[in-house]
Amino acid sequence: MPTIVVTGSGSGIGAATAQRLTSAGATVIGIDLAGATVTADLSTRDGRSGAVAQALEACSGVVDGVVCCAGLGPLSSHTGGKLASVNYFGTVAVLNGLRPALERASSPAAVAISSSSTTTQPGVPADLVDALLDDREDDAVALADAVGPVAAYPATKLALAWWTRREAVRRKWIGARIRLNAVAPGMIDTPMTSGPDVDPKMAALLDLYPVPRGRRGAPDEVAALVEFLLGPGSALLCGSIVYADGGTDALLRQKDW
Ligand code: NAD
Repeated sequence: MPTIVVTGSGSGIGAATAQRLTSAGATVIGIDLAGATVTADLSTRDGRSGAVAQALEACSGVVDGVVCCAGLGPLSSHTGGKLASVNYFGTVAVLNGLRPALERASSPAAVAISSSSTTTQPGVPADLVDALLDDREDDAVALADAVGPVAAYPATKLALAWWTRREAVRRKWIGARIRLNAVAPGMIDTPMTSGPDVDPKMAALLDLYPVPRGRRGAPDEVAALVEFLLGPGSALLCGSIVYADGGTDALLRQKDW
């Protein structure tokens, strides 16, 4: 039975992913701020290295899959810098830290969670995306703090998408047989979009977000895609950013006929 590490396993998409994989017979090692196999704060360097060390111990140095769901949303009460630290640096540290354990598995795969905001939200700050991709955390945090969480959010997720595409084709990932892909969810009904941390006025504005499918996604609908990306059916996917947004990206990014 496969062993899969899931960050953000305590809520929303991460919880649905952990539940789905467990039901399919996998052993899930969850990482979250509380209530998980590994309790860790991925916003700090110490928290990230502690999370990786504990996860490596829990999986005895061999892991079949890693899914990074932990993240903070644009409407949360957190600073832009905190979003940069958790969404980008927290994800990249876990993926890089567990990569050697993936390499020891027979058919390894990893999935990052990006966002459709990367292509549908205007004005994504390019200097912040560059600082993230250049691994300049102090600069990135300062830039993200300056623009605030609403603008910082798509930048963290765009950098993650570009990081996935850049790393997936390198020797240490696909050259070591590890498939790395990302999911770009649209509007998904989780505590991030409708929880107590979200300003009710802003939450109401989210209902204006156009979804051709006609409704928000459910966390398990994203989890089903993650399960596919971990399994043999997605053998040819490497460095793909797969949209799960009910048609929002297709609607907003049409060819200029
Ligand atoms: P959620 O708030 O339900 O879950 C996020 C999880 O991340 C929580 O369990 C939380 O405790 C954990 N987390 C936050 N900060 C952390 C930290 N410092 N260290 C460790 N864990 C931490 O949100 P969700 O909607 O399930 O989001 C999951 C992922 O999907 C996020 O990366 C989010 O950006 C992305 N996403 C969500 C949506 C959406 O509409 N909900 C859309 C696009 C992308």
